[in-house]
Amino acid sequence: MDQQVDVLIVGAGPTGLTLALTLARYGISFEIIDRKTTPSNNSRAIGIQPRTIEVFSRLDVAKEVLDRARTIEKGNLYFSGQWTAKLEFSRLVTPYPFVTLLRQNETEAILEQALNRHGHFVRRGESLISLTHYPSRVLAHLEGDTPRTIEAKYVVAADGANSSIRRMLALPFSGKSFKESWVLADMKARWNISREEVHIFFSNRGVLEVFPLTDDTIRITGNLANDESFDESKLRELVEQRSHMPVEIDEVEWFSLFRVHNRMVDAFIHNRVILMGDAAHINSPVGGQGMNTGIADSFNLGWKLWLHLKAGASFGVVSTYRDEREHVARNVLQTTNVATEVLQTTLPMLLPFQALGADVFTRVNLINQKITERIAQLHLSYPSHSRIPFQRVAEGKIFPEIEMIRTDDGMRQKISEVADGRFQVLVLDDGSRDSAALYDYLNEHQSFFQIITLSKTSRPFFDQGNELAKSFFMRRGVLVIRPDGYLLHKQRHLRLAPLQEKMSDWLPFA
Ligand SMILES: Cc1cc2nc3c(=O)[nH]c(=O)nc-3n(C[C@H](O)[C@H](O)[C@H](O)COP(=O)(O)OP(=O)(O)OC[C@H]3O[C@@H](n4cnc5c(N)ncnc54)[C@H](O)[C@@H]3O)c2cc1C
Repeated sequence: MDQQVDVLIVGAGPTGLTLALTLARYGISFEIIDRKTTPSNNSRAIGIQPRTIEVFSRLDVAKEVLDRARTIEKGNLYFSGQWTAKLEFSRLVTPYPFVTLLRQNETEAILEQALNRHGHFVRRGESLISLTHYPSRVLAHLEGDTPRTIEAKYVVAADGANSSIRRMLALPFSGKSFKESWVLADMKARWNISREEVHIFFSNRGVLEVFPLTDDTIRITGNLANDESFDESKLRELVEQRSHMPVEIDEVEWFSLFRVHNRMVDAFIHNRVILMGDAAHINSPVGGQGMNTGIADSFNLGWKLWLHLKAGASFGVVSTYRDEREHVARNVLQTTNVATEVLQTTLPMLLPFQALGADVFTRVNLINQKITERIAQLHLSYPSHSRIPFQRVAEGKIFPEIEMIRTDDGMRQKISEVADGRFQVLVLDDGSRDSAALYDYLNEHQSFFQIITLSKTSRPFFDQGNELAKSFFMRRGVLVIRPDGYLLHKQRHLRLAPLQEKMSDWLPFA
């Protein structure tokens, strides 16, 4: 045995890097390896959804991402060259009401630099070649300059769509592959079209999606007919035919043809091996969901591994990752499957109906918002015991990004910005006498709870005029936010027993 760690992460794409950064913040012993000798320079994913920026805020990298990225608030839909409808991201309820465009390799570089700041480094040029399984550990045999073996309590497969771990375990990757090929090109182009918005052109030749990457570079993607042979020389013709606009292409930076797959493994956990990201599920790039879903997988698993490995919580806590994320991945696969089918429909007689549908649906604010919320991954929730539907602040839902006022200087700070990896407990305290036992419990277990008391006089944040309490329709009570930003528990009083009972599902003590 050359090394012992709690967790071995195989793959340093966005999924593996996010998990590594999360574990580093919790001080968990881990190793992350990647078979590539240098970081990727591949710009596959460019769309970062608002929910992912909320996650990045909790990991303290949101500012860096936003500083380097382009943000887009609107998407235009055109049918047969005619502008028809607009999707509005600016109305989303999040501090980041836009789609963030940044090349995947740049996002990965930001995550890796943050990881390095925590003193952890990706071991590059090392490939996992086999696993030996024991009841309480796994031996991972690696190939590289010097072959070595790592003993880990858990191995995480973040090794991408062609996952070698998935093959080692002989896990079926069920689903379908679309027959059509798609073209992708990042190119410098002169074109009389807004660089502040996304454009999607539907035509009887197929769809064309246009994303502004920089002031002079755009990403285009489009589907090709089944038997169509295609190369770089046909790009201009494709763009002009589908957009009905003239374009001058100055330089093609990246050109690629790819096929679209919608597949998923049956279970995300197999004994001591946990699958995530593209290794567990792949979907059509339509709507920019794949990388975002992998990042959310990692963020979901990270704090559960913390509770299990550092605090002695049972493996049952970790296995909730499987239930929660399989459900989400299935949902993403279904949505992107339908979206891809719609985009690939090129029957001329259907185009006017698609145009009418797009026009009518996007005019209705509620429908426009539902579509953009889905793309933004803000609609996702986890099962809870709450029996009251349609609440803004409900158990199992993403907790809204509230801003609190700092007592010292009156500055506003987002709840995700003050998050430090523990459960955040918001105590809306109106001075009730029954709160002593609650505070004793929370203070005794401060390694798990970040206690944020909100009253007119509390520190370090205060709730002048009970503004926040009113926005939750609560005069007093307790809100427990999971480390990944979902509301776990809500009660309208300051008694200890219900909170303690809820926490006993997660913590190794009652
Ligand atoms: C054309 C295109 C456009 C896309 N656009 C978007 C978008 O806009 N938004 C979005 O969210 N998603 C998009 N995606 C999807 C996105 O790129 C993937 O979902 C994302 O890369 C998955 O990340 P990952 O970390 O799970 O896997 P990968 O990024 O594939 O990383 C896996 C890593 O594992 C390493 N590895 C593999 N096997 C081993 C081994 N045996 N030992 C050691 N290391 C190993 C690999 O070298 C690799 O670095 C797009 C995909 C494509 C193809």
